Amino acid sequence: MNIRLAKLTILFFAGVCAAIAGSLFKEHMDYKEAVVASPFLSEVKKLSDYSDAARGTVNDANVYIFNGPTPGGTVVLLGGTHPEEPVANLAAQIFTENVRPVQGRVIVINRINRSASMATRMGEAYPRFYHISTPWGVKKWRYGDRLATPLHSWPDPEVYVHYPSGQNLAYMDIRNANRTWPGRPDGLLCERTCYALMELIRKEKADIVMDFHEAELEYAVENTIVVHEKGQSVAAMASMMLTSQTFDVPIGMEFSPKALHGLSHREIGDHSDAVSYLAEVAEPMLDRIRGITDEELLMSGKDRFVMKAGECKLLYAPIDENGWPVEKRTARHVATLMTILQVNNMLSPEKTILLEGIPDYQRIMHEGLGSFFHNPDEAPPERVFFD
Ligand SMILES: [Zn+2]
Repeated sequence: MNIRLAKLTILFFAGVCAAIAGSLFKEHMDYKEAVVASPFLSEVKKLSDYSDAARGTVNDANVYIFNGPTPGGTVVLLGGTHPEEPVANLAAQIFTENVRPVQGRVIVINRINRSASMATRMGEAYPRFYHISTPWGVKKWRYGDRLATPLHSWPDPEVYVHYPSGQNLAYMDIRNANRTWPGRPDGLLCERTCYALMELIRKEKADIVMDFHEAELEYAVENTIVVHEKGQSVAAMASMMLTSQTFDVPIGMEFSPKALHGLSHREIGDHSDAVSYLAEVAEPMLDRIRGITDEELLMSGKDRFVMKAGECKLLYAPIDENGWPVEKRTARHVATLMTILQVNNMLSPEKTILLEGIPDYQRIMHEGLGSFFHNPDEAPPERVFFD
């Protein structure tokens, strides 16, 4: 074979591989996640209804609003800040699909950084989707990255100078929706997204904002509630109640550092009347030391390499052969928010938020997640949305 033919053969082969990969990437990016909103839905807005900063961007998310029959407080739930942490959007969506507000209001965004859910982390061979069995079939979600994709936010600066603090952060954190609070209307994608979210929080007069996350077991901020100083008594009481009555693995409570900027728990509390909380739970898939990176690990949270690291005392959370299954991670987030609301109702009765229809920790652990997600093919079309 002559050299020219060999080169053409290699080029052709590389082109076929690129075409196959490209079509798989496109399928992931274009996949629409169906959401069946609870029958108690009041209205669905877009983030751009609160600020033009989000208009026309991929992060112009659906805002699901549920108003109770009796006035009270307002809680805003932020899901999908980091789409490589799937229980953050699953926990939010449990509220979207099941909540019945009895007093006060709840506003949910299932995915605040949609861009980051449309591509996975480069070079990490992440699965593209994850699936949950339900009584009516298998439901599918996009798995994603920690950061918005450069396809939607480009170019990154040499150094990311956080606005308005002027603090220098890592360049790629300009695409991290938990480093761009409180945002600015003329910035890059995540700065615009957070600015519009701040406008939502201010205009809806939110009393409480919860930002759901997951973290690797090698990371120190783990199985905890991070809270702005305005909410320290509520978070302290909630962590004690959850640890003593509900969870097998304790949940801690930490103050939001005052000198670390761009994070939701710091900036939302500083730039609005709301009290900001962030909840973390253990996700072994995120550990550097993990084994095969597949959907099985993502959903079961079982990994013998991470367990080995635990035996060597390298982790900040316990792990055994039972792992950290997705039901447990989601149940912890749902129970954490419900307990924060319960404590807040005691301390601020004029801002009471009473929610029904939300499964408790034991029920999710017993039944799994499938029965809390509804069939979009059988639901009334006016309650079916796509995130
Ligand atoms: Zn996170």
